Order: sequence, then C-alpha cells, then structure tokens
Amino acid sequence: MNKLILIVIDGLNYQVARDCMGFLAALEAAKQGCFYKMQCELPSLSRPLYECILTGRTPLESGILDNATIRLSTEQSIFHLAQKTGLKTAAAAYHWISELYNTCPYDAIKHRFTHDESLAIQAGIFYHQDQYPDHHTLLDAEHLRQKHDPDFLLIHTMNIDDIGHKFALDSQQYRNSARRMDGYLSHFLPQWLEQGYQVMITADHGMNNDRSHGGTLADEIEVPFMVLGQGFSLQKDLQIKQTDICGLACQILGIEGHDKAIAPYILRP
Ligand SMILES: [Zn+2]
Repeated sequence: MNKLILIVIDGLNYQVARDCMGFLAALEAAKQGCFYKMQCELPSLSRPLYECILTGRTPLESGILDNATIRLSTEQSIFHLAQKTGLKTAAAAYHWISELYNTCPYDAIKHRFTHDESLAIQAGIFYHQDQYPDHHTLLDAEHLRQKHDPDFLLIHTMNIDDIGHKFALDSQQYRNSARRMDGYLSHFLPQWLEQGYQVMITADHGMNNDRSHGGTLADEIEVPFMVLGQGFSLQKDLQIKQTDICGLACQILGIEGHDKAIAPYILRP
C-alpha cells in the first residue's frame, strides 16, 4: 500500500502547463515523473469533472451535469472506498468537494474545518472564495498531512481558473498564475516524494480565449496529467482517460473489490 496525493489544479490548460511549469518539467527530465496529455470528459465544467476525477464516472453517468447541480454524489468516490478500507482521507479543497462527498449544502462556519472519521473526507480544510490563495491551499494541505497522516490527500487549487475567467487563456496573467503554482509546488513536492508518496497532478478542464470553458475546443479539454513517484512505470505515450484516475488511485492505495476502470501500464509491475 502506498500513500497518494492527488493535486487538481482547477482550469489548467495542458499547453500552458507544459510551457510555464519549469519545475515540473525538471522533475520529468530527471525521470522522477512523467507528463501526459489528457482529454477531460464533457461538458468541460468543474463540478461534473471533480465528480469524474474522484469517482471515475462521466458527467452523463453521474448526473452531475453542471455547476448548479448542488447535491451529494451518489457514486462511490476514492474517499468512500478508502475510508471503507480503513484508510485515512483528507482534502484541502474548494467547498464543492465537501458538498459532493461530505455535507450538502456547505456551511462555511460549520464545515470549513472538518475532522470526523465517519465522513468520506475525514479531515478537511475547505474554502469558498475563488481568490483564496493557492499557496494557502497548499499550506492547508501540508497541515492536514502533518497532523492527520492521511493515506489519500486531495489538494485542489482555484486561482488559475479564476484568473482565466478574468483574463482569458492567452494572457500574461493566466500564464503567470501557472508559473506561480509551479514555484509553490517546488516548496512541497521534493519532500513528499522523498517521503515515498505517489503524486498525481491534473486539472478538471482547460480554459479558452472567451474567458470560459464548457465546450469541446482543444484549449478547454486538453489538461495535464502528471505522475510522480516510485510506483509509476513512467512509460511515455500512454492514453489515460480522466475516468481512469479513480481506479488508478484505488490501485495505488491497495483498495480491492471496486468496479472502477483500470489503466494498464501506468503503474510499475
Ligand atoms: Zn472555471
């Protein structure tokens, strides 16, 4: 069994991740990780795709079809499966994650800081403003990691999506927000990798030049999927689907008896 950190960088387009995130590129060049191009499921919207990443179900399958579908998920998520297996779960994430897997609707006063072992996300620090600084989200995650030692930790940051909605894909502001995130990751990832964590970095969807997303343009649907850690084969040119992430997480965590899709070859045999 391995410990897993899943980092979802909201609204991060694939090509901008490749062009602007030099620290991640250095890790790949040093053969510590491998970068893949992934196409998100449709529609290319946040809440449907959080559900896709965390349960392996497409929006059509889950019924979470837009951002205004505010209800608990009816699927088995990585959090549920891990918690049932006796593993510890945690998340530093936007409040929609709490609404999908813990408590709906979200009440910041009650739910911002969560610690309840009966919940799918046992330890949580949630935020509800898109401008909540990404670096603070990473610090929240590191606090949860040090305090609760979770087997599965979700980290979900929002600033890149927020800046894309204000300035569009092809803007210095959007690209610079990706560069800032790359720098923040360099403060944390080396230590996590040294401590033996497996790490997956991805995005729910990309961004377009109309300052939005939701459709089928390459800019909106092409997202990064990067894996880091000793458990991965680092084999290039694999086609990994967004619906494979949940099953991959289950494999890494040693969860058995689930019905999630399995992506072959990406893990070291
Ligand atoms: Zn967005």
